[in-house]
Amino acid sequence: MITSFLEKPADSPLMPIPETAVNIYTPKNPFPAEVMSKCRITDASSPNYSWHVVLNLKGSKMAGKYRIGQSVGVVPTGRFNSAEFNYAHEALNNKIRLYSITSACWGDDWKGETVSLCVKREIAEDEETGELVLGVDSNYICDAKPGDEMLVTGPVGKSFLLPDNPLDYNYVFTATGTGIAPFVGMLVELFNQGFEREVWLVFGVPYSTDIMYNEEFLYFAERHPNFHYTTAISREQTNARGGKMYVQDRLEEHQDGIAPLLAQSDTLFYMCGLKGMEYGIYPWLYRIGSNLVNLPDGLTVADIQGLSRNAPEWSKIERARDRKRLFKETY
Ligand SMILES: Cc1cc2nc3c(=O)[nH]c(=O)nc-3n(C[C@H](O)[C@H](O)[C@H](O)COP(=O)(O)OP(=O)(O)OC[C@H]3O[C@@H](n4cnc5c(N)ncnc54)[C@H](O)[C@@H]3O)c2cc1C
Repeated sequence: MITSFLEKPADSPLMPIPETAVNIYTPKNPFPAEVMSKCRITDASSPNYSWHVVLNLKGSKMAGKYRIGQSVGVVPTGRFNSAEFNYAHEALNNKIRLYSITSACWGDDWKGETVSLCVKREIAEDEETGELVLGVDSNYICDAKPGDEMLVTGPVGKSFLLPDNPLDYNYVFTATGTGIAPFVGMLVELFNQGFEREVWLVFGVPYSTDIMYNEEFLYFAERHPNFHYTTAISREQTNARGGKMYVQDRLEEHQDGIAPLLAQSDTLFYMCGLKGMEYGIYPWLYRIGSNLVNLPDGLTVADIQGLSRNAPEWSKIERARDRKRLFKETY
């Protein structure tokens, strides 16, 4: 368990949450951040190799200036950024990829002088040739060793933040895979500021070996009865209809507690992770008649239940969400 960042040490003051700043460092002017530490956060037997990586921001203009919900860019350098590894996607060489910030704005050192990321190695096979293809940036980051330097840009993003008065709201956080990253820091920020309202976290992964930060969430759940933490393990658990257990199935299972909360105007809903989660969560929100989503012209709730993933109607649905209360960061 990575406990040091969960609760503020008694002797250090709590820094105020900074104003939102973006693009302090750009691709033309990146900051060389030293890798301070890294640890594996999926079980050693999981093929979804994922790492928690702590970067040193000391001396940078980003120190104490980033907010949870933002992302940083990492410039891919090193051996994967070569034709040998990136042959099929040459256009992607040198292209900066974004990674959600995992640490609260206070960092792991409670001074904001570190920033943490949670990165999964992307590994695939070329469809035609069957050759192994390694994601350029994710493997570069997961291979990095303490002491290595990494060029970072950002922070970026203004639309997936906690509100200015975070203690005045309830939250429903939904995540798949590395989409869990921002919720770690959000929970740290909320509980360290004395949060007393209700917060749910529904976390979906394929196998139990893929659950990240489980001990950290259990740590908060044991200490805060207002934190409701549950996982949806699609390849191991079944839903009420005998199908795979996805995030929306877990939301449905806890509907009696979550739906009335969501009906309140002071409850915010966040989803982060794989794009595919939207195709399950939006239909569930329509099924419960949630006021977070309006019905687009020409569509019924029944139509939305059966839409295929590539249906053009999804763009209308996306536009019909309440942007002040339903926040999403999917990739
Ligand atoms: C806002 C935002 C936040 C994000 N946050 C996170 C985060 O917190 N953690 C995280 O891990 N990721 C996050 N991502 C995703 C991240 O930005 C990268 O997209 C991801 O790490 C893959 O980048 P890569 O360079 O490793 O892979 P790339 O080199 O870009 O390749 C992309 C994928 O294509 C595959 N591929 C490449 N060539 C071929 C081929 N010929 N045939 C078949 N497949 C091929 C690769 O294996 C890989 O799976 C986020 C994305 C966004 C937009």
